[in-house]
Amino acid sequence: MKYSETVKIVKINGPIVECENNGYIKIGELVNVGPLKLIGEIIAIDKDRAVVQVYDDTVGLMVNDEIIPSGHPLSVYLGPGLLTNIYSGIGSSLKVESKTGFIERGKWEFPLDLKKEWEFEPIMKEGDKVFQGQKLGYIQEYSIKHYIMVPIGVSGKIVKIKTGKITIDETLVIIKDLNGENIEVKGYTIWAVRKKRPVKKILPKSIPFFTGQRVLDFIFPIPLGGVAAIPGGFGAGKTVLQHSIAKWSNADIIIYVGCGERGNEIAQLLEEFPLLEDPKYNKPLMERTIIIANTSNMPVTAREASIYTGITFAEYYRDMGYNVTVLADSTSRWAEALREISSRMEEIPAEEGYPAYLASRLAEFYERAGYFETLAGDIGSITAIGAVSPQGGDFSEPVTQNTKRFIKGFWALDRNLSYAKHFPAISWSMSYSEYGEDLSEWWKANGNIDWLKLRDEFKGILLESDKLENIIKIVGFESLPDDEKMTYFMGDLIKKVFLQQDSYDKVDAYSSMNKQVAMANILKTFYDDIKNKLKTGVPFYKIKEMDAVDKLIKIKFIHEDSEEFKNTLDDILQQLEEL
Ligand code: ADP
Ligand code: MG
Repeated sequence: MKYSETVKIVKINGPIVECENNGYIKIGELVNVGPLKLIGEIIAIDKDRAVVQVYDDTVGLMVNDEIIPSGHPLSVYLGPGLLTNIYSGIGSSLKVESKTGFIERGKWEFPLDLKKEWEFEPIMKEGDKVFQGQKLGYIQEYSIKHYIMVPIGVSGKIVKIKTGKITIDETLVIIKDLNGENIEVKGYTIWAVRKKRPVKKILPKSIPFFTGQRVLDFIFPIPLGGVAAIPGGFGAGKTVLQHSIAKWSNADIIIYVGCGERGNEIAQLLEEFPLLEDPKYNKPLMERTIIIANTSNMPVTAREASIYTGITFAEYYRDMGYNVTVLADSTSRWAEALREISSRMEEIPAEEGYPAYLASRLAEFYERAGYFETLAGDIGSITAIGAVSPQGGDFSEPVTQNTKRFIKGFWALDRNLSYAKHFPAISWSMSYSEYGEDLSEWWKANGNIDWLKLRDEFKGILLESDKLENIIKIVGFESLPDDEKMTYFMGDLIKKVFLQQDSYDKVDAYSSMNKQVAMANILKTFYDDIKNKLKTGVPFYKIKEMDAVDKLIKIKFIHEDSEEFKNTLDDILQQLEEL
């Protein structure tokens, strides 16, 4: 048999199809399956059989139907026009026809508009020597400069470069490579989703991935290029939190991977995102967003691929020198797809039916995040944040536990907090960030604050206050000594003033670094002062009844640049003095 020769189906089990091995088929190779040419990928091979994971509904397929090998791996198209677009898990353009996110079977829509006219602005000129990854020129894609780069593996000399009106299907640049061969560079490129795009260097992470959410930025921060998980049971607030992050973070580009959530959630996303104002450019947020949608009613196999498709898009914009964030909602539904495929392949299951390679597959996603020097010599980053939705909010299950091995930010959502209307419902006792040391210099330089120390003090008060809460349940608040009353009171104040944040309030939805620092400082001053006052004999009830307490709680709703903000701070200090 020849490499391109078609092979016959011998067995069908849902999306898992077995076929003959023509001796040329490779692991990871893309194939077209059956008369509808459904897209599939070779995922296992033995001497005379191969296993295909089909990225579509296989109803109607028959034994002896043909499979056509393609010779190349599962890949996505990368080029101008990705932003604002919606793709399936394998990077096919998703024209969502109804609110259910329905797509026609076997249809692979070309992901980019080849006819659209763009303006190409060259940076390099004819005769210039170029190397892989270097920026040749750019196309303005909404507010983003979309750089056309020298293809990976190519270096040489520019013999021709276009300028002005183009379509991405045209040859924009011709490079004579080192073998004297002419390489044509179009407006788009193709990349295999399971393969990392190369960088020049992995750099240390030291700049916050700033979200404007106080509990994240100040208490459990991650850096640009960091990785975090948002575990939480149903209704705990994972999706709302991811949307807040998408809207407010300092990332330039947002890749939202909706994997396996209900169709109506994606529909809601598709309705909401285009309406979201981008605080950065005052344009719709969609203009720097790519959505990958694989709802629970779509094929599970494409869901498996979706997170790799997402991170490949991210790497592509990273290579242009942007800070990109990938939000995956939810990796639990993704892992269920992995489990289903594995069980159909009759593999030996590990914990709770998940395959033994669950951890390595998670790693293949999270390990592509980071802070980098790109091939072109710029700084670019990928911050990856995955929601995890364990059954019943039980964090001891395999997906949460395995995810913990690869992430360093753990934003645990607590149902009890969301019941109590404490939003974002991020547990201060279960959550953690292992990035404290990496970021303390930044806070010192930019916020002029010994952030790590203050952060740890707040955390200490919160945990102490939790312990006291248990005692209070038994003996009652009044029987505590005044200093313990004070700690408990302070814990409560930190929650109300600082941790709780109303994502639906115009001012409170985003807290700048300056505001976070001002709020943390006033809380700290307040705490130190009332501790001293207590020692000098001021009774606890007097402190509690101060009007300043009320002022502290309301300060988050005041804009930090206003007179009112400054006056409120002054007023609080004044009251402390008079106490
Ligand atoms: P999950 O994705 O974890 O199932 P959602 O993110 O959809 O949960 O949140 C469920 C509901 O909780 C939301 O519809 C909203 O009413 C409420 N909620 C979640 N987060 C917030 C928040 N930060 N502020 C106000 N309400 C919130
Ligand atoms: Mg959700």
